[in-house]
Amino acid sequence: MKFGGSSVEAAPAIERVVEIVRARLARRPVVVVSAMGKTTRRLLEIGDAAARGDLGQAHEMVDELRELHARAAEAVTAEPDRARLDAALAGRFGELRRTVSEIVAARALAPRLADEVAAYGELLASEILTLALRRGGLDAAFLDCRTLIVTDDRFTRAEPLYEATDERLRAAVLPLVAEGRVPVLGGYVGATPEGVTTTLGREGSDFTAAIVGAALDAEEVQIWTDVDGMLTTDPRLVPAARLIRTLSFAEALELASAGAKVLHPGTLGPAGRKGLPVRILSSRRPVDPSRDSDNGAGTLIGRRGAAPPHVKSIAFRRNAYLLRATAEDGAGAAVRETAGRLGPAVLWLGEHEGAALLALDRADRLPEVLDQLLQVARVEVLAGRPVVSLVSEDLTDGGALAAATLDAAAAAGAADARLVADGTACAAVRILAEEEDVARLVTRLHQELFDGPAGEAVP
Ligand code: ASP
Ligand code: MG
Repeated sequence: MKFGGSSVEAAPAIERVVEIVRARLARRPVVVVSAMGKTTRRLLEIGDAAARGDLGQAHEMVDELRELHARAAEAVTAEPDRARLDAALAGRFGELRRTVSEIVAARALAPRLADEVAAYGELLASEILTLALRRGGLDAAFLDCRTLIVTDDRFTRAEPLYEATDERLRAAVLPLVAEGRVPVLGGYVGATPEGVTTTLGREGSDFTAAIVGAALDAEEVQIWTDVDGMLTTDPRLVPAARLIRTLSFAEALELASAGAKVLHPGTLGPAGRKGLPVRILSSRRPVDPSRDSDNGAGTLIGRRGAAPPHVKSIAFRRNAYLLRATAEDGAGAAVRETAGRLGPAVLWLGEHEGAALLALDRADRLPEVLDQLLQVARVEVLAGRPVVSLVSEDLTDGGALAAATLDAAAAAGAADARLVADGTACAAVRILAEEEDVARLVTRLHQELFDGPAGEAVP
């Protein structure tokens, strides 16, 4: 069971988490938790202030963060655990101040130090949640994620070393579960084999949950968050968006990379390899806790229902850049491989007229992405154009869907929309559109594909 930052943002939310876990004790849960609310961002801001040499500002922000954690923690900790809480807070914030001094001395926030700073959020949240569960009468056991998740040393987006990680997780977690205890660890954070702190990249706690679930052969990974599940499109754009009940791994991966922000795409690696289902659930509106399972609730990934609709969702990315990479003598595979390595910010759109088309949604990564691509191809950079993706693994007739999509685009007045993937190379039909057409286009497509009451989930 993974709880995101909003699920533990303050004492009342933490208390809801305790009840959610309690109701599922029979399923022998292991808990993975993110940093509280906006803590990671604030920690990185502290790192930036320290890198500027602004020690006053950095310390002020450390004190604010301490205040926020102390307030929530005191409200959820029972009297006998007070000393433990005080020790945890004093310990973590003492370490944080030492890290801040180190950054001030270096006058730069090196990736290694950024990870060290960011890690305190998950360490604190996991200690606090352990105490809250104990106050609720659950026999929770805190585990330091840095001793369990072993990674390479690509700081700020480290990759797990699965063999060592799986071994450590099984050794540390399974005995606790067997004793009826509830292990609690922070997500997002790991360490190199030498013990240097790393992180798996922003929003990486979902990924941790899948790593843990896969290592332990769990029944299910539950991602508890602040929405009911994956939706048929972004509800800020189309209020009639509906909950999706089931998705395949390929569809979920496609959706995560095509712009849906609900799930960290890395999560689907370990889960997909093991065929381990991932369920997204709302901690704001948990299903009736007296039910003995969460079957049928939220969005279930990895057990796709056969029933229509065949298209599961319409995702869109407002990309910063569109890149056209042309490689000599069919080196398209090298471009694709490079794009894969660059991670989810780079979306592979397919090959067109001898060039590979890629979309990049993070302007800050352009120098790095260009640097890598230029080693294998000539690259042309265009200012960003949004990509709209109709996600479905069941594109037996992708051609017809592609044609229907272009018709809908024309009908919506998006005359310049252009097809870039027809469903043969990935689980989606994709079109490139103009920024000003996106809202109309997505609304129109949604109407055509998901006609029905907004409150009703699609199977
Ligand atoms: N706390 C980390 C972040 O904000 C990881 C996570 O929330 O999944 O990026
Ligand atoms: Mg999160």
